[in-house]
Amino acid sequence: MFGAGNANADLMFVGEAPGASEDEQGVPFVGRAGKLLETLLKEIGMERNDVFIANVLKCRPPGNRDPLPIEIENCREYLYRQVELIQPRAICSLGNFSTKLLRDDPTGITRLHGRPQELTLGRRTVRLYPIFHPAAALYTPRMLETLREDFSRLPALLALPEAPQPGTDSIEDMPELPPASAAPAGKARQAGGEPDAVDQLGLF
Ligand code: URA
Repeated sequence: MFGAGNANADLMFVGEAPGASEDEQGVPFVGRAGKLLETLLKEIGMERNDVFIANVLKCRPPGNRDPLPIEIENCREYLYRQVELIQPRAICSLGNFSTKLLRDDPTGITRLHGRPQELTLGRRTVRLYPIFHPAAALYTPRMLETLREDFSRLPALLALPEAPQPGTDSIEDMPELPPASAAPAGKARQAGGEPDAVDQLGLF
């Protein structure tokens, strides 16, 4: 289950992994968490067709267990490519797994939710906006209020001018090139930095 939605979307959501319903239908967020996501979108005047929805993992972890670090690593490049192709202005990471992967950092969603940051993934700079996973609000009503509050700031975020893109500096801003012989022959920096030893991505 790779993702679905508007290929020209300004807003992309990245969840965790397909669940049973998503696995059966080949469409992300079609279960209860998906219905809540649709409701939250509707409350800010948007619908599913306006956005693109993907997940960190493209396959359902057996028994709905958490994604394993090796599974996340295996799907990482695919997600970066999806971002490059969709070219969203903003990405909402839903919950811990997508937030940690996209930021390449173990800081948890509880500390980060509701605060946008600029982030360059491959050849695309986006505004990352971490929010809680809608599934969390299915069990904790107070979480629903937090989600609503964070969602309510999305329209203003999307109204901002697009983040400056890599490689779009004017000639005047360019640093002077070193002589050709001094140029390092190293490889280009990968999106999100070189993948270090795989981190264990805990829930909180
Ligand atoms: N939860 C997710 O993280 N992704 C889905 O597609 C469905 C539920």
